Amino acid sequence: MFIKRYSEFRCIMPTFIHSLSDVDNHRSKIWSASFKLDQDVCHLFPYINAVLDEAVYYEKPEHVRFLFEGYRCFLYPDSVAAHFFESKTAAKDFIACLIDFLNDIYNQKEDIRPNYNQIKQVPIIDILKILPKTNCQKCGYLTCMAFAAAITKGKVAADKCPSLASPISENAVYPIFDNNGKLVNSVSLQINTSKLKNRIQEQHEQILMLEASLRTSNQNENQGDSPQISGKSDFGLTNREIEVLKLISQGYTNNEISGILFISPHTVKSHMINIFNKLSVNDRTQAAVLATQNEII
Ligand code: SF4
Repeated sequence: MFIKRYSEFRCIMPTFIHSLSDVDNHRSKIWSASFKLDQDVCHLFPYINAVLDEAVYYEKPEHVRFLFEGYRCFLYPDSVAAHFFESKTAAKDFIACLIDFLNDIYNQKEDIRPNYNQIKQVPIIDILKILPKTNCQKCGYLTCMAFAAAITKGKVAADKCPSLASPISENAVYPIFDNNGKLVNSVSLQINTSKLKNRIQEQHEQILMLEASLRTSNQNENQGDSPQISGKSDFGLTNREIEVLKLISQGYTNNEISGILFISPHTVKSHMINIFNKLSVNDRTQAAVLATQNEII
């Protein structure tokens, strides 16, 4: 066994929870814990970074952050901090599980391809330099300073501030100018681009839909406005299918439709299949165009 014991266990209630309102908000989870390990585990960081999806491996100070057993964990070379626990007993149970996990990683190192990607923590002041400092709160934070602090802690992605251009790259570099507009430095920030990619995909689908609609309309004009289908029809669609069709034509994704209509993604899919069958189409663009032509939506 690599790690055999821990020491210097401390379990405290963070000072910001001491106020009554905070206790109300965190009634069930209020304890933070810290302890020392009897081994230096920093050589395991790239392996933890590889096996845990949500792990973030920081360069300075070297540590890795991750969610473990539902608790947030900060693992340093020979010490650990974690929160928020319901009780001291829960914290001790967590430590036992974490040590088992670290020993498992140590034993299985040969079978894991390490991920050495590290995040460099950018100082708050450098991030503040690239923000407009208008405190407009569109990012959800009261001030630009609070937003900058949240970025350094990895709590929020930089592109939540609409004033920062949406970066395509996962490692975006923003320029810093002096008062004369001269480039003096740059700040490199990690960006979570998955939402951005989804947005681009949705916009791409909308463009395809509009193009198809335009093509159909041009064809109709060329054919003396004679419709391609005879007469208007509702194709035997149910009210629910028409609702789904409306949302499709507005460019919503299946997951979004599921949220809007309070139905499961599986149900959305089955509505989609019915719609495609009834309209005799193969994709959502054709479905939206046909529905528009027939004034179903
Ligand atoms: S949205 Fe941008 S400008 Fe507005 S408060 Fe947040 S960081 Fe500052």
